[in-house]
Amino acid sequence: MTIKVAINGYGTIGKRVADAVDAQDDMEIIGVTKTRPAFGCDLAVRKGYPLYCTFDDEERIAAFAKAGYTCHGGLSDLLAVADVVVDCSPGKVGAANKEVYVAAGVKYIFQGGEKHAMAEMSYTSSANHAENLNAQGTRVVSCNTTGLSRTLVPLYEHCGSLKVECTMIRRAADPGDSAKGPINAIKPVLKVPSHHGPDVMTVKPEIDINSMAVAVPTTLMHCHSIVATLPDGHGLTTQGVLDLWSSHPRIIIMSGAQTGITTTAEVMEYARDIGRKWGDLHEIFVWEDGVKLDGNTLYYFQAIHQESDVIPENVDAIRALMGTEEDWRASVEKTDAAISAYNGL
Ligand code: NAD
Repeated sequence: MTIKVAINGYGTIGKRVADAVDAQDDMEIIGVTKTRPAFGCDLAVRKGYPLYCTFDDEERIAAFAKAGYTCHGGLSDLLAVADVVVDCSPGKVGAANKEVYVAAGVKYIFQGGEKHAMAEMSYTSSANHAENLNAQGTRVVSCNTTGLSRTLVPLYEHCGSLKVECTMIRRAADPGDSAKGPINAIKPVLKVPSHHGPDVMTVKPEIDINSMAVAVPTTLMHCHSIVATLPDGHGLTTQGVLDLWSSHPRIIIMSGAQTGITTTAEVMEYARDIGRKWGDLHEIFVWEDGVKLDGNTLYYFQAIHQESDVIPENVDAIRALMGTEEDWRASVEKTDAAISAYNGL
């Protein structure tokens, strides 16, 4: 069976999820939506993805034809032929969209801009794939939460308990975003703790974690500064922690001193050098020389490519909801192999 996937909201995340799905042999893109005939439509046309309007009203649908695009109908027409819709709309419109998905009887995946309570389930590949099997809908957690989950879940599974304090040093805006800031300030998130730590607990409630966040004037990546307290008898060394992460997928570990990759700018340049589409880096980047285990206290930094770490997780989440792959590692392997092929690696 080929899973029929619709993308509602063909923006930064939507266009990437579409290509990642398109690369898989067990699923296909049956359509993507745009709110209006803007420049993103050209990309969908070039990729051969059928274009639909985000809304059902005739006037908005007709606007596409007037601008020279073939529009196959409104969202309802798309949902009628879909097994699952990946909602990549801007955050906080999910509740209204969910009603439409439920009425259409289609499975749905939201993104991290939506609340766990609205979606009712949350997802990361390594934390809770099994709990999401055959669910009606879920939410792939945010880029930061996905990044935290990648390195903390293996630690938790090794140690059996984990207490974490972390600071998210967040990019101010995506590179293609002209409306956000700050451009000349450091902006602390004045809600303490920030949502990121508690959000990890929506996929791994056993991890005791709090977070703070600041936005800084950069567009490239987020950087996390993490302090984790391991339980007595953890049996790890600094090298042991690195070995543990090396045995888990979607984590890249490199020495800043040896590679010269000491900032997020060089991490992104590395992603471009290895030929990643859009210069994406789906993996979490950990600096080997920024990791230190001192007794029970583990310190480390990691960098998160905000536009892309959640992309392969959406593909795995589709398999979880459709119940077509029970083993999260098998899904990750399949997803990443197909994505590597489209990256030409
Ligand atoms: P975006 O603004 O780049 O794209 C959103 C798209 O949805 C646009 O094409 C927009 O026209 C369309 N849209 C607008 N209203 C809509 C509606 N009612 N229904 C359907 N589509 C609608 O946003 P994005 O950065 O791709 O973010 C999408 C989601 O992914 C958000 O929940 C966000 O929090 C989450 N997310 C974003 C990032 C990131 O760094 N960009 C990372 C992880 C998760």
